[in-house]
Amino acid sequence: MQIKVLKMGVGRRIGVLVSTAVIATVLCVSGLLATYQATQSAAQKRDAIEGTAYVFASAVADHVEYGQVHDIRTVLRSVDRVPGVISASVYDGKGSLLATLGQRAILKTRAVSSDPGFWEMMTAATIPVSVGIVKSGQPVGTLVLITDISDLRSRFFKTLAVVLAASLIAAAVGVLLSVPLQRRITQPIRKLTSSMMQIKENREYDTNLRSENEDETGIMVEAFNSLMSDIRFRDQSLQKLAYFDPLTGLPNRTNFQRTLQQQLDGLTGGYDSLGVILFNIDAFHTFNDALGHSIGDAVLMNVAAVIKDNAGQAVMVARVGGDEFAVIVPDNGTGAQTEAAIARIQSAFYKALVILDLELHLSISAGATIMPRDSRNVSDAFRHIDLAGNAAKRLGPGRATFFTADMDDVVKRDTELGQALRSAISSNELEVHYQPQYDVRSSRIAGFEALLRWKHPQLGYVSPGLFIPIAEKGGLIGSIGDWIMEESCRQAKAWIDAGGTPRPVAVNVSPAQMLQSGFVRKVGQCLERTGLPGNMLCVELTESLFLGRSLSSVRAILDEIHALGVTLALDDFGTGFSSLAYLSQLPFDKLKIDRSFVNGAHTAPRRREILRSIIVMAHSLKMEVVAEGAEDAGEIELLKDLNADQIQGFGIARPEPAATVTKTVARIESLRAGQTASLAG
Ligand code: C2E
Ligand code: MG
Ligand code: MG
Repeated sequence: MQIKVLKMGVGRRIGVLVSTAVIATVLCVSGLLATYQATQSAAQKRDAIEGTAYVFASAVADHVEYGQVHDIRTVLRSVDRVPGVISASVYDGKGSLLATLGQRAILKTRAVSSDPGFWEMMTAATIPVSVGIVKSGQPVGTLVLITDISDLRSRFFKTLAVVLAASLIAAAVGVLLSVPLQRRITQPIRKLTSSMMQIKENREYDTNLRSENEDETGIMVEAFNSLMSDIRFRDQSLQKLAYFDPLTGLPNRTNFQRTLQQQLDGLTGGYDSLGVILFNIDAFHTFNDALGHSIGDAVLMNVAAVIKDNAGQAVMVARVGGDEFAVIVPDNGTGAQTEAAIARIQSAFYKALVILDLELHLSISAGATIMPRDSRNVSDAFRHIDLAGNAAKRLGPGRATFFTADMDDVVKRDTELGQALRSAISSNELEVHYQPQYDVRSSRIAGFEALLRWKHPQLGYVSPGLFIPIAEKGGLIGSIGDWIMEESCRQAKAWIDAGGTPRPVAVNVSPAQMLQSGFVRKVGQCLERTGLPGNMLCVELTESLFLGRSLSSVRAILDEIHALGVTLALDDFGTGFSSLAYLSQLPFDKLKIDRSFVNGAHTAPRRREILRSIIVMAHSLKMEVVAEGAEDAGEIELLKDLNADQIQGFGIARPEPAATVTKTVARIESLRAGQTASLAG
């Protein structure tokens, strides 16, 4: 790994700092030493000259008193022999020059000041040394010796050079000696830095540093190691959270996707394909609803264990959703191993699960795909097992289906239809057709069922059985439902206003629509707006409404609808999770028997008996019975015999637009009771 090269590392900084400090110290010390030495020499020199001056002063004292200039000169002549003194002058008590002698006569230019400072020493060539001439304790004059001090300057520079050289050598040795020390300090820091950079790059937190030092760097390394172990621990916890399901301990969806990708990338050796299976617990919500969530959780944990125990050679078993488990198995590309794994796991659930003292029977359905044969990448695989799983669910509990390409076509078609459906209302492509409901006792038409029709500009009429589920999935059912409710109520009111027999209209409402907030309020407002009395509207609901919902919550909404005077019909009875508990506890006014029971019932004795039982049961629960899908005379006659209250089917009339259905009604009602069957002919 390339460690970033620092422009100015700690080592270099210390080097620069030490060198700068040493050079500055050397310069200061040398300067100070040389200066001190120079001023000392100057003082010594002045003292020596001063001594000489006193000797001359006492020698000339008598001559000065008496003004004997000649004698003074004689004394001064020996000044020449004093080294450094270049001239000597004698002044009388009034300051007048009496005599002067020496190499240069510069005496009158110099005042009497003698203690040379450093600056003076560096700039002046000479200094004056003056002493008083005293006779019998009385000052009588002054003697001034001019002294050459140029030697002091050259001595200063020499000293400076020597001291500087010596200091520089000492400093160089010092700097050299500091290098190992500096290394010793910076090495642990460098190691630490490089480890940190490595961790930053690779995100590997299992690095542990060693340090022999017991100083701050040692403490730093120790702190670093403990920090790493903290991070490792947190990292592991995070990994667990991010990649494992806390309830079952199985890998989660992200983990599964990652593993599947890795397996796909590395398909080698004994097998060249993978089977990916999605297991889904059938009607899992019933365990939660009936036994509570803690039992629901226990069911999930048990199911996870059973799948894992029976997964054989599986690469991974994961929990990928609420009640969804996914398995990767090695396959030879034919699907045989995957099929065997599914069969093994599904059959393991033939045995009941025992949770606390409960014996629970459950089944799991499976959707599978073979990779890369049918699903080339991970996201395709997930989509495909979902589609296959849905197809399996449609077949019934405990079933398994492999993904096939046509399932994908259905999804594509649904996506396209979903997009087209968005503009269907605004483009006036939706219509309502009305199918008459024939009342057996009065031989009249008792009401209509409003059925939605979508006239697609290219595809023609699209069946509501096809587009209603798409509208539900795409979140369009609310607006479409509102539209048909409004349209049907408006039409029913228009028929009443036209003076005909008041006939209620039945509107289909899907669970997704009914459970949207404000549904009941909207129905109330619709009745108000259109002026249709509540009892002229019937709401048809299917048993799928109860899926995953508690009886009490469904009951609450149904009661609210009832409070508007609206009647309630349970549609397609017999096709869903029919439960007598629902029937006896929910306030339905009508039961609509699904056409699969009516179809051919007059020629199939068992079906006829089922039909009879349903009608008897509904009547005993005070519900009216509407038989759906009566197509021929035999079925109509049978339904009359079995005491059904109303018949709705092509044998009576097909759904038609409002404009024509009134004529159909008039035609049916003009027939005598016994003639109804001929309608079907
Ligand atoms: P459904 O509520 O059970 O409606 C009865 C269906 O049976 C209608 O199909 C009707 O045309 C058809 N049918 C009636 N008599 C016969 C017969 O004798 N033989 C046969 N083979 N079929 C008969 P349609 O109109 O295709 O509607 C299918 C389903 O779509 C409806 O079943 C209903 O569940 C749903 N649907 C229709 N309109 C709406 C709507 O406005 N909202 C909602 N949420 N669902 C709707
Ligand atoms: Mg219906
Ligand atoms: Mg129906």
